Amino acid sequence: MNRLPNSASALACTAHALNLIEKQTLSHEEMKALNREVIDYFQQHVNPGFLEYRKSVTAGGDYGAVEWQAGGLNTLVDTQGQEFLDCLGGFGIFNVGHRNPTVVSAVQNQLAKQPLHSQELLDPLRAMLAKTLATLTPGKLKYSFFCNSGTESVEAALKLAKAYQAPRGRYTFVAATGAFHGKSLGALSATAKAAFRKPFMPLLPGFRHVPYGDIEAMRELFTECRKTGDDIAGVILEPIQGEGGVILPPPGYLPAVRQLCDEFGALLIFDEVQTGMGRTGKMFACEHENVHPDILCLAKALGGGVMPIGATVATAEVFSVLFDNPFLHTTTFGGNPLACAAALATIHVLLEENLPQQAEQKGNMLLDGFRQLALEFPELVVEARGQGMLMAIEFTNNEIGYQFASEMFRQHVLVAGTLNNAKTIRIEPPLTLTIEQCEQVLSAARKAMESLCVARSKAATAEENESL
Ligand SMILES: *Cc1c(COP(=O)(O)O)cnc(C)c1O
Repeated sequence: MNRLPNSASALACTAHALNLIEKQTLSHEEMKALNREVIDYFQQHVNPGFLEYRKSVTAGGDYGAVEWQAGGLNTLVDTQGQEFLDCLGGFGIFNVGHRNPTVVSAVQNQLAKQPLHSQELLDPLRAMLAKTLATLTPGKLKYSFFCNSGTESVEAALKLAKAYQAPRGRYTFVAATGAFHGKSLGALSATAKAAFRKPFMPLLPGFRHVPYGDIEAMRELFTECRKTGDDIAGVILEPIQGEGGVILPPPGYLPAVRQLCDEFGALLIFDEVQTGMGRTGKMFACEHENVHPDILCLAKALGGGVMPIGATVATAEVFSVLFDNPFLHTTTFGGNPLACAAALATIHVLLEENLPQQAEQKGNMLLDGFRQLALEFPELVVEARGQGMLMAIEFTNNEIGYQFASEMFRQHVLVAGTLNNAKTIRIEPPLTLTIEQCEQVLSAARKAMESLCVARSKAATAEENESL
């Protein structure tokens, strides 16, 4: 008889996992066994590097925690039943909180009806979401392409801009240093961090980076590129850099970029994957300065923390390059009914509960608190900055940043660094955070800084004693 050892073992794995998914709670033994298994499988089959990373940001060389479920709207719970206040917001995906009931219910209703589309008939929720985004987004943005991530939304934006500009003889793209646009080969060409790019060189030709916030540098590049025939096809920018460490451009920068693009016939792409959906105190961050892009990239919070979805929204003029052949750029799962249901419900909640405005108010309260701490602990903190609920505390070095995150973790508040800037810790909670929870975050941050100071002065004394 044929033995099928692989299929038998894989079947045991799936049975075990399905059993786990069904469980609402774990006994102490089950919890311990699960934690051991998870660590083992990360080591053997996911990537041991993640375990090293968890150790580095967790007190006492521990791995930290294995997560189990969403807690309340603004918390998550690990397998040991410890509840964490989420001030990381999944890098900005939980704008409407965890398991927001309106979003969950829309997705459940759609799941019962039809989770994925036929690919052949006209799917109604895609139509509804595209119409909603055309209404919601600023300026002349009108047509939407749907995909499954921020990276894919950037990829689509770049391809749209290329297709639009190729007949016009413009091939060069401008991005900013510190930028993060994703890690596929196209998006990575716009992303600016050397460590992420170096192993994959050469990337797409024609990408240039200029210092973020420096309009003169950008104007010079435009001018020089025109001289050499490398005319600019498009500029891609985050209205506030997220992974770069929450960097706000100087006032007037974004309008000046818009003007420059118009002058040279270049397209302006705003990557609002992280800043969009109310995060910064407006529905879209570009609305702070009333600057309208030709192409807008959305993802992260668009799916309400329930489904992955990305969108690339463009003006009719730009998007029309896809009219003749709508199959020119497609993806199977993009704009599927579950994802569209989640996005529609998310936008509904953001609007109905005025969450962008709440983000502004609570963000101001938190930022005032962090700025006060920056004044009180100048040996630890360089500055606190942000807009709305997209905030960062920049520490004097990477080590202090890690220690702060680890102290916060001990107090059950989840924060983390940014991908392009390790000494900067981001504070990016759900916009649904309550005032009491804001106060809790501030008092945890104060305690964390106090204990970092104590640890530092102890270390200094020990060093002195040694040198005596
Ligand atoms: C996170 C992020 C991306 C990439 O999105 P993924 O969903 O991780 O692919 C792109 N741009 C910005 C500004 C981001 O913050």
